[in-house]
Amino acid sequence: MSVVRVPVPAKINLYLGVGPRRGDGYHELTTVYHAIGLYDEITVRRGGTTAITMDGEGEGDVPLDGRNLAVRAVNALAARTGADPRVLLHLRKRIPVAGGLAGGSADAAAALVACDALWRTGLSRPELARIAARIGSDVPFLLYGGTAVGTGRGELVEPVTGGDQVWHWVVAAADGGLSTPAVYAELDRLRDEGLARPPQVIGAELDRLYAALRQDDPVVLGAALHNDLGAAALSLRPSLRDTLDEGLVAGAVAGMVSGSGPSCVFLAADADASERIAERLASSGTCRLTRTATGPVPGASVRVAATVYGGER
Ligand code: ATP
Repeated sequence: MSVVRVPVPAKINLYLGVGPRRGDGYHELTTVYHAIGLYDEITVRRGGTTAITMDGEGEGDVPLDGRNLAVRAVNALAARTGADPRVLLHLRKRIPVAGGLAGGSADAAAALVACDALWRTGLSRPELARIAARIGSDVPFLLYGGTAVGTGRGELVEPVTGGDQVWHWVVAAADGGLSTPAVYAELDRLRDEGLARPPQVIGAELDRLYAALRQDDPVVLGAALHNDLGAAALSLRPSLRDTLDEGLVAGAVAGMVSGSGPSCVFLAADADASERIAERLASSGTCRLTRTATGPVPGASVRVAATVYGGER
């Protein structure tokens, strides 16, 4: 295999419960991840050096050097397996950057899967997940996709078995990103001042969500969605309230900030409704762009592997 192409989805959090801050600075999390059909795509081939190029979302902003999470993933897998890390990566980016959709983590997961195939290192998903966890908390989930519960700082993932329902989502991306550490710091501040929900015992809320995932009623699922970081993202970016209101007026069953924001995500009753909501949001002036996507979808996996002789095809 001399060229490997790996699409990888974005994630949203159906539930994000933020516990107390730990000694290492991270917060203890319980989150229910859900992979949706909005994809970045990585292509890798062997090269004389390690280099990355890109097109699409974030071009000009995303670092194209050793800070890029995909490059970090290549280097981490090479260090673990002894493979030659010199590869040429191309990133086709459709997931909005710094939007709470884990695009950078998705690219890291895709790079791990792509290089594992290119180098024939044959690591299992749990072995790749151990490397992934050192790159970022959301990276292990994006190796699996589907719907899964994440604990620890989010890196310990277990699949959630739902039914075979297809859920219809609308993503509204904002202008500019939000720094994830800044959003956590804002949540700590709001909690210290009694202005945000403190850490909870969340078993009953999770059970309600799991039960909703096994039913076929978006209204029931919508009522079970929750994000502790929403209050902090709204505090830092009050204009997100307009986006959320607009989506609900457009007919969304529920809307919330995605992860640490500033993207907002809406649950729609069906595919037609998701298109209508996306169009109305797009023309409302309350967001930069909208996308429709269904979930759950599988995580990073090799799509096309072609043997190339004598150059590009
Ligand atoms: P999360 O929800 O996991 O915090 P996010 O969706 O808010 O992630 P990302 O799109 O992953 O944010 O990007 C966060 C930062 O990571 C960006 O500001 C960018 O500079 C850096 N970064 C490094 N590698 C990448 C990459 N491959 N794609 C996007 N951003 C990257």
